[in-house]
Amino acid sequence: VIHVAVLGSAAGGGFPQWNCGCLNCAGLRQGTIKAVPRTQECLALTGDNDRWILINASPDIRQQIETFRPLRPQSLRDSPIAAVILTNGDLDHCLGLFSLREWHRMTVYATQQVWHGLMSQNVFFRTLQRFPGQLQWRDLTPGLTQRLDPDGGELWITAFSCPGKVPLHLEGLQASHPEDNIGVRIFDCSERTLVYAPSARDVTPELYAQFQGAQCLFFDGTFWSEHELAGLGIAAQTAADMGHLPIGGDAGSLAMLTDLDVPRRIYIHINNTNPLLRADSPERGLAESAGWEVAHDGLELTL
Ligand SMILES: [Zn+2]
Ligand SMILES: [Zn+2]
Repeated sequence: VIHVAVLGSAAGGGFPQWNCGCLNCAGLRQGTIKAVPRTQECLALTGDNDRWILINASPDIRQQIETFRPLRPQSLRDSPIAAVILTNGDLDHCLGLFSLREWHRMTVYATQQVWHGLMSQNVFFRTLQRFPGQLQWRDLTPGLTQRLDPDGGELWITAFSCPGKVPLHLEGLQASHPEDNIGVRIFDCSERTLVYAPSARDVTPELYAQFQGAQCLFFDGTFWSEHELAGLGIAAQTAADMGHLPIGGDAGSLAMLTDLDVPRRIYIHINNTNPLLRADSPERGLAESAGWEVAHDGLELTL
């Protein structure tokens, strides 16, 4: 059995985003659209309801822990959080690590690329190295299966490379690499499988194969359209420039994954500009009639 809780479902910036007055963000603040606020993407999961694993550590982690009761400490100084998996090195996925300090030991699963990008030339990282073994790194080499939670968790993990990009803050410093961005398959002893891929620039045949046979897939729901930001006059970058496959359109994920045999398919990491956030938008209707769910903070499921 795998229990999953969505702690945060928005892309970087959250919903609403502090400096954004787009239709969605302004409408949410004014209460004129059918939508709910969302914190930045973070998932919690457990195989035994005792020790929990986070996927990504969002800048909202402190609030997310307080909101989800099972993650609160049980004694004077402890945490049910046994480890953190990083799917890439983007700040909205890593910044939360720096909120998990206070002399606490933590295990981080990340590819060599992501780990290197986090550690090298990063003076802040020293705050997570105050004592030997404070942060323990486990290499998430794609294709390698290992136990999730070195202290005896009941879940297993295999990472796979996902088309993506090097983090914004490392552009020009670190060449892009297949292990910049990954998805993960997490499964228990009866092979109940969760696939988590919150950032993907494309669905290659290799990626498609990774999704097959899962009971549940969380997939990149960042943008509805390729030119979403330009259309709103926010920025010139396309979804592809930012490492994301849009949901809509002939080549979008809705079309590409239409025949996928996975009972639960859930969009996550949703940017605040995405019309999917409005419960009564035509785009939301399209996704739902194709069998997709839209993640919201507080969504829980059991596989
Ligand atoms: Zn992100
Ligand atoms: Zn906005």
